[in-house]
Amino acid sequence: MRKFALVLLLGVTLCRAAGSTVKIRGYITSVPDSHSIAILDDIIATHAAHLDLQNCGQSSLSPGLLVEAEGVWTARHQFTAEKVSCDANQFSREITENAYLQEEPLAAEKRAEARPNRLKADGELLLLTDTTQLNWHPAEQLVGYQVHYRGVRQPDGSIMTSSVELGSSAPADAYKNPGGVRVVPTTDPKTGIKILEFQKESKIQGRMKLFPVEEVQEYVRKLGLGLLPHGADATKRPVEFRFFVVEDPSINAFALPDGTILINTGLVGAVENEAQLAFVLSHEISHVLQAHHWREVHDTRPKRVLITIAAVAASYYIRDLGLFLGQLGLEAVVNGYSRRIENQADRLGLQNVIDHGYDPWPAAGFFRTMLDHYRQRSTSAIWSSHDSALLRGSFLTVQLLRQYPEGHFDKAAVNSPAFAAMRDAMGPVKIE
Ligand SMILES: [Zn+2]
Repeated sequence: MRKFALVLLLGVTLCRAAGSTVKIRGYITSVPDSHSIAILDDIIATHAAHLDLQNCGQSSLSPGLLVEAEGVWTARHQFTAEKVSCDANQFSREITENAYLQEEPLAAEKRAEARPNRLKADGELLLLTDTTQLNWHPAEQLVGYQVHYRGVRQPDGSIMTSSVELGSSAPADAYKNPGGVRVVPTTDPKTGIKILEFQKESKIQGRMKLFPVEEVQEYVRKLGLGLLPHGADATKRPVEFRFFVVEDPSINAFALPDGTILINTGLVGAVENEAQLAFVLSHEISHVLQAHHWREVHDTRPKRVLITIAAVAASYYIRDLGLFLGQLGLEAVVNGYSRRIENQADRLGLQNVIDHGYDPWPAAGFFRTMLDHYRQRSTSAIWSSHDSALLRGSFLTVQLLRQYPEGHFDKAAVNSPAFAAMRDAMGPVKIE
């Protein structure tokens, strides 16, 4: 049996090497002509493809449709499909979601209304009708409370709800790091280097080098704090947001449950503009405000036994931050959460950059940067997985196309002189 599996595996590997059929999945972002469709920058030739669309009641391929294309890559960004099928349930599937409100969902004058007809929550526009089951208490302040909703996505991207319910806020424990880990910025007495110390019950678990240029730290800290949703501190969440740039060449960022956000030098070096960095920071801020780590451990997955290793780093300084955080019981923070949770952080992150005056198009373009950078390599890291970047990037693009008219963001910010000055101060950094 084992031998059979091995042969089969080898077969698959050889087929891949010969450039045979692969599947790609994503939302159609445009239809350049009658023989092709585009998912972000990937152009899929459909002239030779069998189209299987009747399941979603469509006769032709159109922007916004979630499709799976089977075929071969013929060149960079060029794909020839043999078959294109669409996800039959995309317009009928009931969406059930929970989200902590990061912003007031209603304009001030509407707050007292017993029955609102639309709510902005969870990075979505929720539509309410007379038949929507509503359990809602008009209150002074709703930020921090959880909203549970069910509904079906409409062709314009909004969600027609069948029920909307206001829940409670998260308990204080939801914002605690596992094992009581604390992250303390300090100076290494041995070397005089600025570091982050990971402490657990006054024992040092590991040391991470901070990027030494203070101007870069200051810029990222200011950008991050400026991006906190306006209502982020309105509730009594025991969260203190802190932003640190750490020396690690991989394009990644991590949010710890207590609000500590670690941004790798590889990521700061790879983003193309301030809007992209703002999007990544907003995504990480949402992981904290949505108490994703706590929710993942408590409601979404069967209870796991967290194995806490006495993770004193093997070398004096931590080289691989991801591996180290995984050892501290933060593997979800490192490897990404379920697709559903990542999508929530993406939606809220995008909404947050829009609310803070940024152009969301270059922000969503971060996924294109990732796709270009990692195209030739397979990686499971959350920001750099090809399949996930294509699906996430195309979903956000489609949502923007549906919800905002062309030109809506023409005057919104993409960059700032401070971003350029920060990059000058940073100089070239290694990106992996
Ligand atoms: Zn994430």
